[in-house]
Amino acid sequence: MKAITLKAGRDKSAIRRHPWIFSGAIDEVMGDPQLGDTVEVYSYNSDFLGMAAYSPASQIRARFWTFKEKTEINKAFFERIIEDAIEKRAARGFDIHDKLAAFRIVFSENDGIPGCIIDKYGEYLSVEILAAGPEVNRAVIYKVLAEKTGCKGIYERCDSDVRKKEGLETRTGTVFGEVPEEPVPMEENGVKFLIDIRNGHKTGYYLDQRDARRRVGEVAKGRNVLNCFCYTGGFGLYALKGGAEHVYQVDVSKSALKIAKDLVMLNGLPTAKVTHTEADVFMYLRKCRDRGETFDMIVLDPPKFVEAKDHLEKGARGYKDINLLAIKLLAPGGILATFSCSGLMGMDLFQKVVADAAADAHRDMQIIERFGQPADHPVSLAFPEGQYLKGLLLQAD
Ligand code: SAH
Repeated sequence: MKAITLKAGRDKSAIRRHPWIFSGAIDEVMGDPQLGDTVEVYSYNSDFLGMAAYSPASQIRARFWTFKEKTEINKAFFERIIEDAIEKRAARGFDIHDKLAAFRIVFSENDGIPGCIIDKYGEYLSVEILAAGPEVNRAVIYKVLAEKTGCKGIYERCDSDVRKKEGLETRTGTVFGEVPEEPVPMEENGVKFLIDIRNGHKTGYYLDQRDARRRVGEVAKGRNVLNCFCYTGGFGLYALKGGAEHVYQVDVSKSALKIAKDLVMLNGLPTAKVTHTEADVFMYLRKCRDRGETFDMIVLDPPKFVEAKDHLEKGARGYKDINLLAIKLLAPGGILATFSCSGLMGMDLFQKVVADAAADAHRDMQIIERFGQPADHPVSLAFPEGQYLKGLLLQAD
């Protein structure tokens, strides 16, 4: 029997159903478990706590599969979890059989497969594995996905550096069916997108901003919009569709901007009303300031600035910097849609940083709306780490 026991008093988080077991909480390891092996977990007093995947190289030494009975982690187990995740998505309006729909089918710990992200882009799936458990069980996970989703192909995007912490090599490639070389089509709230599953960021796209993009589109009418960190132009496309006067799309990624340009045409939107600029946003905003430009609406959707706890202060300075610059560029009554995807920075701190920026810019601003994660990126109540995305829709004086 492969099993681990926890130190005295270190079973509290497991009892509260938090899925991580840190190396320092482990008292004894029995049966010589290897990378990704399933272990039974016991408290110091020998109470059964659950089944977990063992990860010998990681600080997070094991991740719980289940807190219930002693189950085998096999095909039937993944069938149950994946069926449940698909059913829950269906009840929230995400249809697995819709050939143009794009949504997250499995969101890691929050859906019961720790370290595994499964995204659907039209007829294809893109999978990112970040932990030992799903890594060694991937063949069976892919089999279940092929059977339950009716997808045409599954592509692995196991190329994140986070894998190194788990002692895993990076890897990409088609693991089921066929995945085209060229970007694949999908639709989001009636806006057409092309997703580069093979080379795009993350699994190919930022599905988590779907609701925020729609909201931005609703308030863009007649406005001059600056879309910072635009990637393939999402917020800007919604703004154009919503009747924006002009949209300025800015990103450092040439390949993302190329897709952004194609998407303006694909959606039949007026190309004369969009400007695409390849630039560093920090520098671009300063240039706008020096030229005395203003905008009626600015979107700030930067990459993660806080990668680790000790980067919090530096990250907060980064958020303050861009928000201060952006707020100063807002025309009277201008709207700012500002976001942070740094899980280590909570909404309270983020709001405080943006409030500091507004104060420094001598502007009064009102919160019109707060953004979180959409219903296909649910947060397990036992796993607050699942909450990473937050945003504010603000209007200036
Ligand atoms: N808003 C996008 C997602 C943004 S993700 C959407 O709705 O799909 C963050 C983007 O920031 C990425 O496209 C990345 O290329 C870009 N980026 C990162 N650092 C940057 C910088 N300093 N200046 C400009 N763009 C940057």
